[in-house]
Amino acid sequence: MVHRTLENRLLGKLSLADREFLLAGSEVVALSAGGTLLSPGAPIAHVYFPTDCAIAMLATIRGQPRTEAGLVGREGIVGLSVVLGAESTSLCAIVQSAGHAWQVDAAHLRHCLATSPTMRDCLHSYAHVRLLQLAQSLACRSFHGLDERLACWLLMTRDRVRSNELPLTHDFLSDMLGVRRAGVTLAATRLRESNFIRYSRGHLEVLDTAGLEASACACYVADKRLYARFMH
Ligand SMILES: [Zn+2]
Repeated sequence: MVHRTLENRLLGKLSLADREFLLAGSEVVALSAGGTLLSPGAPIAHVYFPTDCAIAMLATIRGQPRTEAGLVGREGIVGLSVVLGAESTSLCAIVQSAGHAWQVDAAHLRHCLATSPTMRDCLHSYAHVRLLQLAQSLACRSFHGLDERLACWLLMTRDRVRSNELPLTHDFLSDMLGVRRAGVTLAATRLRESNFIRYSRGHLEVLDTAGLEASACACYVADKRLYARFMH
């Protein structure tokens, strides 16, 4: 069990005792692309620690397309609201890229947090990182161009799912980046013409990581640095 738990980096930050306490009675579940893990306003029954999938956190405004409010993979937890004492969230969590995650009962997590100060400290540090990452992504939307944002977002997704094969449609990318589909198509075409990626219907593959890194805005490195700095 220990080996599998380390596939989620956040679980790997917990002490062995905390990890075993948290995962007692929990199981690894398979998550299908497009599945809903959290719905706005609904009580959170389970939280998830992804091991090889990417979960998009989406904010919705009535009458507007959904907008990305975070991307969670093997570095984090889906259901952070529970860690912060809330019963529900205003966000929607959708499986962007299929894979697996540890599914933990929310009531059990609350019990663990009330019992273990070290677990609470670790998960609060992660909440802090998520807050800073969200601020970074807001600044990114305001100041960085679409091409560099797309490169950044593809790299972040790749790191979270640990694969160069990314099942992404242009419609989904359009939602994630908050721009029109035509803009995403143009930006993706430019990355493809540079041989950094290739794609065909709903399937995108990273071919040249170094090339993408050179094309990405500084937010890619900033995102990784935030995690490294605050998650010891
Ligand atoms: Zn940026």
